[in-house]
Amino acid sequence: MICVLCNEEIKGDVINGMAKVYGNNPHPLADEGKCCDECNMSKVIPARMERSYVDPVKCVENKTKHE
Ligand SMILES: [Zn+2]
Repeated sequence: MICVLCNEEIKGDVINGMAKVYGNNPHPLADEGKCCDECNMSKVIPARMERSYVDPVKCVENKTKHE
């Protein structure tokens, strides 16, 4: 499996003798495929954090205008 964000092979792990391939949902940076743990931590999660902060920031701006 190839990471859609860095095109590197996503390394799997072996648990109880069964090969398990890791992959993370790359949304919102990509709609299809999987991304590796490294990209998930360094790119995908920050992108999600930025988007999730949109609403609180608006709330703060509105509050500031009232004062
Ligand atoms: Zn990657």
